[in-house]
Amino acid sequence: MLVDNHNRKINYLRLAVTDRCNLRCNYCMPSEGIQFAESKKLFSIEELCKLSEIMVGQGIDKIRITGGEPFVRKDIMVLLHKLSALEGLEDISITTNATLIGPYIEELKSLGIRNINVSLDAIHKETFEKITRRDQYDIVYNNLIRLITEGFNVRINFIALENQNIQDIIPILELMKHYPVSVRFLEEMPFNGGSKKFESITWNYKKILNHIISEFPEVTLLPSPKTSTSVNYQIKGHKGTFGLIPSFSRTFCGSCNRLRISATGDVITCLYGKPRANLLDVMRSENAEQNITAHILQAIGTRSKTGFEEQERYKGVFENSMTSIGG
Ligand code: SAM
Repeated sequence: MLVDNHNRKINYLRLAVTDRCNLRCNYCMPSEGIQFAESKKLFSIEELCKLSEIMVGQGIDKIRITGGEPFVRKDIMVLLHKLSALEGLEDISITTNATLIGPYIEELKSLGIRNINVSLDAIHKETFEKITRRDQYDIVYNNLIRLITEGFNVRINFIALENQNIQDIIPILELMKHYPVSVRFLEEMPFNGGSKKFESITWNYKKILNHIISEFPEVTLLPSPKTSTSVNYQIKGHKGTFGLIPSFSRTFCGSCNRLRISATGDVITCLYGKPRANLLDVMRSENAEQNITAHILQAIGTRSKTGFEEQERYKGVFENSMTSIGG
C-alpha cells in the first residue's frame, strides 16, 4: 500500500498515454499547439503496461487513462486489454474529448470499462468551435449520447470560462435533465501552455453554484466519497446530477489520494508543483521494477499537504499545458 508523508493512502493513478491532442482548447494550449514530445520520449505501450502492473503491485487500485487525447494513440486498446486483466485493479476510467472514441465503444463495453469522463465545455456548436478551434461538435455530441444510452457511467467535465461558455451552463443542465449523467463544473487552472496570461478566475465554484441555483432553486446536496474532488448536487426533477470541482480554489487537497504519471514519465504528486522524478530512463534501464518503485516511494514521501503549499514550494511560473501533465 502506498501512503504519503501526510498519512494519506494513495490508490489512484492518473496515467497519461500521450501529450498529443486533436483539439486545441484555448484554455489548454495556443492555437499552434505546444512543443509535443518526440515519440521516443513517450512510453511505448509495452512500457505503459509494465508500469501499470508495477503500480498495481504497489497498491494502486484505480487507474484513469488520460492525456493528451488517449484515443489519438492507435495502440490504446492494447493497454486497456492489459489493464482489464490486471488483478487488484478495481476501477479503470478514461478521460476523453469523445472525438475518436466511437469505433471503440463496443470493445470498451466488452472489457467492462464503463467509467468515461467526457470533456465538453459547450452545448452550442458555436461555443464549442470557438473554444476547441475545431469543427467536431456533432461527433462529440453523438458519441456522448451513444455512451450514455449504451449504459456507460458518463460524467461531463465542463470548465467555466469567463466570456466564453457561461451562457451554456444552464442549457447543458436542461439538456442533461433526462439522462443519468453527472455534469461537473470545474474552475479554470493556470495550465494553458502559454496561450494567455493567467491572473485568476472570475468563475469560482461558489459563483457557478449561485448561477445554477438562480435558475434551479430546488437543489439538494448529495453525499460524496471522502476522496471526491467534486461537491455534488441533485436538481429536483432531474435524472442526472451536477458537481462542482474547485480545482483552482483547492478545497479538496486534504483527502488527495492521487498520483499522476505523464506520458513522458514525469511523476507528479500535485498539479501545482514540479515533477518529483522521471521514470522514462529508469524504465529503460536494468532493475526497472525495483528502481521505479523506489522513485515512487520517494515521491510519495515528499508530498505537499495542499496545492497552495506545493505552489509556494515551487515558486515558478506555470507555463505547462494540461495536455503535457495529464489533466
Ligand atoms: N483529451 C482528454 C480530454 O479532453 O478529456 C484528456 C486530457 S485533457 C488535458 C484533461 C482535462 O483537462 C480536460 O477535462 C480539460 O478540460 C482539462 N483542462 C485542460 N486545461 C485546463 C485548464 N487550464 N484548467 C482546467 N482544466 C483544464
